[in-house]
Amino acid sequence: MRVKTLHTPAQLRDAGLASRAELETVAARYAVAIPPALTALIDRNDPHDPIARQFVPDMAELDRRPEESDDPIGDEAHSPVEGIVHRYPDRVLLKLTHVCAVYCRFCFRRETVGPDKPLSGESLARALDFIRNDPNIWEVILTGGDPLVLSARRLRAVMQELRTMEHVRVVRIHTRVPIAAPERITADLLRAMKASGRATYVALHVNHARELTREARAAIARMADAGLVLLGQSVLIAGVNDTEAALGELMRALVECRIKPYYLHHGDLAPGTSHLRSDIATGQALMRRLRGRWSGLCQPAYVLDIPGGHGKSPIGPNYIARAGENGAAHYVVEDYQGCRHRYPPASRSD
Ligand SMILES: *Cc1c(COP(=O)(O)O)cnc(C)c1O
Ligand code: SF4
Repeated sequence: MRVKTLHTPAQLRDAGLASRAELETVAARYAVAIPPALTALIDRNDPHDPIARQFVPDMAELDRRPEESDDPIGDEAHSPVEGIVHRYPDRVLLKLTHVCAVYCRFCFRRETVGPDKPLSGESLARALDFIRNDPNIWEVILTGGDPLVLSARRLRAVMQELRTMEHVRVVRIHTRVPIAAPERITADLLRAMKASGRATYVALHVNHARELTREARAAIARMADAGLVLLGQSVLIAGVNDTEAALGELMRALVECRIKPYYLHHGDLAPGTSHLRSDIATGQALMRRLRGRWSGLCQPAYVLDIPGGHGKSPIGPNYIARAGENGAAHYVVEDYQGCRHRYPPASRSD
């Protein structure tokens, strides 16, 4: 029997992943998809399995908190045309599809992702025109949804279109496909990703070392060998990676796969996700521990997307402070073990 992607509570029950009939309410509210590669990874005997926690719907998702929002990072306010989010002058998000290979229960765009919301051909043409007409746009970030659920043919068409825009020098693809459906990373899709004739960066979303299975690692190796630059994006999730061991192992696994950890995102205030959110003090403490004990290659920047559309800010621990007055002014810098050291201010000879 061929294993299929699970979408309905009945399918989840048959796969031994959920028992409660009430999950119908959750599934009717937020998209569900667990592809075979991830279904196979779930340990059904572990009630705290970090893979299940990320993808199997939970009744707690119906608990919506007042601070949560349908548009937690303010995409809407910065969307000049459908499919584009333009928050920073030099880069735009281009959302080619709202479909993902797997739906994460903590998704910051959970109100807009889902199987029945494709970007039409006309909207895509308007979105591409928007990029074509703004010479300040240096980088285009393909996101969604997950751009790698598209066929190689559709992706190639978009990439070739971007190539005709002289000002677009870098294309970045945000994806979870290499871990959710590694079989999709074919030679054809790799060629399509590179068709831009520009530097192509791929930011892979991975939250637990176990997601990097043998098949996923092979798919990632194909991407690295094809000359794509690989970055890691992770979300800090309570009960998944909010311990030093889980986070450190994740970062090491990424680095071993030739993926440079780029961002550790603080969980956004998406509706029904409070049970999966950690707090910022925990995130900062974890970052200090990473800095103290794990290779510099394993250090992502810990960032918060400020609610209301104000963009991302680094919120990791700070190691330097000013001290002293006027003539005695200096810096105090803290080392990885927590010891403080004096550092002189710049002395000018003129
Ligand atoms: C996150 C984001 C980006 C990318 O930000 P970087 O700091 O360059 O990774 C760009 N545009 C929008 C709207 C974003 O939310
Ligand atoms: S892959 Fe990204 S966009 Fe898709 S559900 Fe997960 S977090 Fe959301």
